[in-house]
Amino acid sequence: MTALRSTTPAPLTYGSRTDLGCVRGNNEDTLLVKEPVFAVADGMGGHAAGEIASEIAIQILMEAELTTADPELLKQAVVDANEAIIEGALTGLGKAGMGTTLTAAIIEDNHLLIAQVGDSRAYLLCDGRLRQITRDHSLVEELISAGQITSEEARVHPNRSVITRVLGNEHNTQPDIYELALNSGDRLLVCSDGLSGMLELSDIASLLQAHADPQEAADALVEAARDAGGYDNITVIVVNVVNTEEHVLSKQKRRFRWSIAVFLLVFVLLIASAIGGVFFYAHNAAFLIEENGYVSIYRGLPGDVAGVKLQWLEEETKIKMSDLPPTFAQRVQEGAGFSSVDNAREALEGARKLTDSSQK
Ligand code: CA
Repeated sequence: MTALRSTTPAPLTYGSRTDLGCVRGNNEDTLLVKEPVFAVADGMGGHAAGEIASEIAIQILMEAELTTADPELLKQAVVDANEAIIEGALTGLGKAGMGTTLTAAIIEDNHLLIAQVGDSRAYLLCDGRLRQITRDHSLVEELISAGQITSEEARVHPNRSVITRVLGNEHNTQPDIYELALNSGDRLLVCSDGLSGMLELSDIASLLQAHADPQEAADALVEAARDAGGYDNITVIVVNVVNTEEHVLSKQKRRFRWSIAVFLLVFVLLIASAIGGVFFYAHNAAFLIEENGYVSIYRGLPGDVAGVKLQWLEEETKIKMSDLPPTFAQRVQEGAGFSSVDNAREALEGARKLTDSSQK
């Protein structure tokens, strides 16, 4: 027997318990309580092999790391579990002929997804009414469907433990899939036949309603199955759906906040890259300007950009404004711009030489 728990906070509260019962020598049931997955596997095969089969099924389900109510992913995990049990029997892990049921539920917001093979069951208590969601893969279920026996007769039928579909028996075994919408206040029960075979539906419903706390409900159900004889291992998971609407809303709010944060981050990055671009351009550019009758070479841009001066003095030259041709001097007065400091210097030297040669 293995019990795995998660402490992730969610709009669900849950409790679980697995019990040897009063007759069996070992517990072949394994359960998984790892939100949002809740599963029960009831192993069979004798001499501890059933325990191994149910543990393999739960292990594979856990390794699938299912986080959403995706039917295809869940179905695939069940198919993989089936193959792993067959493989386990072939390689000496467990025994040939070992098998297990698997009833696995995933709750995502108000969506309940269930995959089922065998006779472990899922029930839903909704508005005070308990109804069985899954349909057993068992001989007695087929007899009930054929109208040959009633469900009460099935509980005491000599062939009640004959299962018609099981994991580990043959390749390509597929689960039945059930999908339902949940409402706040609904309660999910997943259990092995050690519970459903010992208690009537009305007794299970009464106990669930008498215990609002899911752990107390799980304990009470196990105790009642033991009191009724406990002929089999008993495994129970009770999940209370606390407030799906509130959860969906808070999830939408979180998504909205994330969108705003991503938008702001992109906006800041764009602004930063724009500033970086202007700075890069300014740092490469150059201009000439008149200072006290002489020409100075500046790196950057004349004037200011959005109130910020992007200019750095490169050189105060000894070239007088009066040494320059009038048209060039006019350009310098206005802050003549160039693509680089070298170009500015070259143009200034060129202009001065032009004046020198005209004076000669
Ligand atoms: Ca059982």
